[in-house]
Amino acid sequence: MKNVLVMCTGNSCRSIIAEALINAKLKHIQAYSCGVSPSGFVNENVKKILTKKDQDDNLGYISHCFHCGNRVVGKEITENCIICKNKLHSAGPLWIGQLFDKKFIISMMEEIPKFVVDSKCEKILEKCELEAEMPITYYTLDDIASKMKRSPLKIKNVIKKLQDAGFIASPTSLNPTGFRTDCDIDNMKKIFEN
Ligand SMILES: [Zn+2]
Repeated sequence: MKNVLVMCTGNSCRSIIAEALINAKLKHIQAYSCGVSPSGFVNENVKKILTKKDQDDNLGYISHCFHCGNRVVGKEITENCIICKNKLHSAGPLWIGQLFDKKFIISMMEEIPKFVVDSKCEKILEKCELEAEMPITYYTLDDIASKMKRSPLKIKNVIKKLQDAGFIASPTSLNPTGFRTDCDIDNMKKIFEN
């Protein structure tokens, strides 16, 4: 049995989650946590997350093909890429459920007229609403461009091309050049070539 100590600042949120995740998912490792300036309590939202009933349903793996750009999201690790047959690199266990609560985002947007809100924040909320129910991984323009050996397209054009081809697509608030879509990498390259 190996011992691991996870350290963050307040030991109320990040290190607590890491400790719980390691102890729940990794065999032969015993995790502990601490903080450089411990708060002495566990964050209420962290308690809610750690005791959520659908916790296990939403934990899984994201497997990524660095060769062709394909991704696979699932409860188990996927070893090989179905598109190019190369070995996939997997991350997890991690949260593979929805990151955004669309209703909550809309209710935040409805509050905007009552406050002074920076237009940057408003734009982030707009993107959050668009991406709320989209696939959990996103692609970036640079990554696609390097896989296609061409200069990057504009984000608006990418989304329009994907939608015109019958796929769902949205920007993401997590990366200015990122977009989410249900289109797989092979089809995406064909669509962007035109
Ligand atoms: Zn591949």
